[in-house]
Amino acid sequence: MELLNHAPLHLPHINYDSKKASYNHIARDDLQSHDFFKPAQDLRSHLDQLPLLRLRTQATSYIPSHSHLANDHTYTPYDQRYCPSCLPLQIVGNELHTILHCPHSSPLSHSTILSLNRALRRYDLCYWSSHTPLQQTAILLGSSPPKLLRKHDKAWTHSTSTACTQLIHSLQSHFFKHQPSASPGPAPSLTSSPASPP
Ligand SMILES: [Zn+2]
Repeated sequence: MELLNHAPLHLPHINYDSKKASYNHIARDDLQSHDFFKPAQDLRSHLDQLPLLRLRTQATSYIPSHSHLANDHTYTPYDQRYCPSCLPLQIVGNELHTILHCPHSSPLSHSTILSLNRALRRYDLCYWSSHTPLQQTAILLGSSPPKLLRKHDKAWTHSTSTACTQLIHSLQSHFFKHQPSASPGPAPSLTSSPASPP
């Protein structure tokens, strides 16, 4: 497929240790799959997958690396999209940090990791800890584990998608609770404040 051949063009700089773990890197195996044009298995399940789809397509308002623009509408370089919870430490708030490493949000992943580890054992796959952080992030976001036989794809998704979807829902509500709400902001001062009486 032409597009398959083009896929690596979107991956100019793959550095697994880099902080720049954009979803192109996380979903690298998915991009090279044989059924590239078929909707991913997790999109064909019966559950509401919209929050997961938003995260997978980097279209959330709560993962800092997804926000291209700052409050003043200027472009924020990827390297400066810091995790607000970890400031003053300047750590890029990407999926990998938010889900696996951030001391504020990563504890939400623990129960999902436990059930994914159980699922890995059911399919005789390597333990959770033997996967790379990027592979772990991809699995938490609904991708199949790298060594899963294709015939087990559907069963894998069926047995894990609830846990993955619940994780995304709890991440979403965690951030909406802890970040300033997307309020329209302070009302512009249309009238000048009345002069104080002499
Ligand atoms: Zn953080």
